[in-house]
Amino acid sequence: MTLSSVLIANRGEIALRVIRACRELGIRSILAHSEADRDSLPVRLADQAICIGPAPVKSSYRDSAAIVAAAQLTGADAIHPGYGFLSENSDFVALCEAEEVGFVGPSSEVIRRMGDKIEAKKIARRAGVPTVPGSDGAIADRDEAFRVAEEVGFPLLIKASAGGGGRGLRVVHSPDTLAADLSAIMAEAEVAFGDPSVYIERYLTDIRHIEIQVVSDGTTTLHFGERDCTAQRRNQKLIEEAPSPVIDAETREGLAQAAIALCREVGYVNAGTVEFVYDNPTGEYYFIEMNTRIQVEHPVTEMITGVDLIKLQLRIAGGEALDITQEDITIRGHAIECRVNAEDADQGFAPRPGTIREFRAPGGFGVRLDTHLEGGASIPPFYDSMVGKLICWGRDRDEAIDRALRALGEMRIEGVVTTAGFHEEVLDSPKFRSGVFNTGYIAEFMEERA
Ligand code: ADP
Ligand code: ADP
Ligand code: MG
Repeated sequence: MTLSSVLIANRGEIALRVIRACRELGIRSILAHSEADRDSLPVRLADQAICIGPAPVKSSYRDSAAIVAAAQLTGADAIHPGYGFLSENSDFVALCEAEEVGFVGPSSEVIRRMGDKIEAKKIARRAGVPTVPGSDGAIADRDEAFRVAEEVGFPLLIKASAGGGGRGLRVVHSPDTLAADLSAIMAEAEVAFGDPSVYIERYLTDIRHIEIQVVSDGTTTLHFGERDCTAQRRNQKLIEEAPSPVIDAETREGLAQAAIALCREVGYVNAGTVEFVYDNPTGEYYFIEMNTRIQVEHPVTEMITGVDLIKLQLRIAGGEALDITQEDITIRGHAIECRVNAEDADQGFAPRPGTIREFRAPGGFGVRLDTHLEGGASIPPFYDSMVGKLICWGRDRDEAIDRALRALGEMRIEGVVTTAGFHEEVLDSPKFRSGVFNTGYIAEFMEERA
């Protein structure tokens, strides 16, 4: 069975990205949108659009019942969740399964197991994948936290098992605050994720974030190499690139094989990302979590492999087997992505919603802009502030950076403040250009800049 129609339960650039893949595959796209997005470009470019509720996400993009009902009403074969919102919500996927609506992603069971970071770490250990030293499971009480802290040492990291999007992490620098920090993050996790479970990891202070893109049809599991997402602010990715500018061939292969072993252990199906931290001083790497969905930064992998990952997702969800082998996946050149947010970098990256007065997209060889922006577009205050992704390809890293700088210079977004200028500054900095930095670099850069 191949899919003939897909309901897209998302908005912005990723909704547009899925619409485009559907169009090329001859799949009818139906966009489920909120009232706030009624006039958006994805609504106009989809084959059909259906309003699922008012602006607040709990009554629209996070309303499972409304989205499944929209799929049934429009006769969609499957739902593509994009990223964020319900994309990693196992209850939502279980509802799809119960209602016999297809889902573009793994089963609810796999999402539930991997979405629980404590469980995911256990599975990784079982698969022989190295994990960050820390607690074996959830921290039961203060006594256990102190026991683990003795082994792990300070600084340590308390992580919410259900955390995501850079939230649900807290660094603890000394035993003096451990008890208070533990209570605080458990309370936060309960409110934010409905699950107070937390665990402890050694806080590694000189690391890179390196992740492996995987795709499986249930029989064959392929990897598409790594992405380096070390340029982060507050544990959220800002700039991503591929290949990593620092790792050697042996490490690259070790990471890829670890990711594949993990996927086999859980019976992973569809596209996913296995995330690791790479310790600069030792060259060791450790699994941190798996994202059971397409990721924001998937285009950098597409640019260096020439493979359309969203199409692979849709074809696998339609029951097709992969028609490529690992040997078919070759890496060419280098790609860099800048996440452009409607935020003011000079005001602590405060969100700046509003209306786009004028918009000029950059273009030319090797430039890809994934965005729903256009003149007159509204950036509502209810959602994530990312308004587009600029992805530039080059024969090598230097050319990719030069091209990204050139494209950022061409781009013009009037009406709201964005982080485009900030990206120019970072890309132009000698340390970014050198490729040698760690996850603390953006914070350092901000301090020097101030
Ligand atoms: P990815 O792992 O795909 O690069 P991130 O880790 O940056 O994405 O974020 C994970 C998910 O959380 C994304 O789907 C993103 O849309 C969402 N997200 C990120 N930041 C925020 C935020 N500030 N508020 C709400 N959702 C967010
Ligand atoms: P999320 O679900 O929010 O994406 P992750 O577990 O992927 O959470 O961690 C987000 C980021 O936090 C990582 O990319 C990394 O920069 C940092 N981080 C995670 N674990 C550690 C650790 N043990 N030591 C230091 N930094 C870490
Ligand atoms: Mg992560």
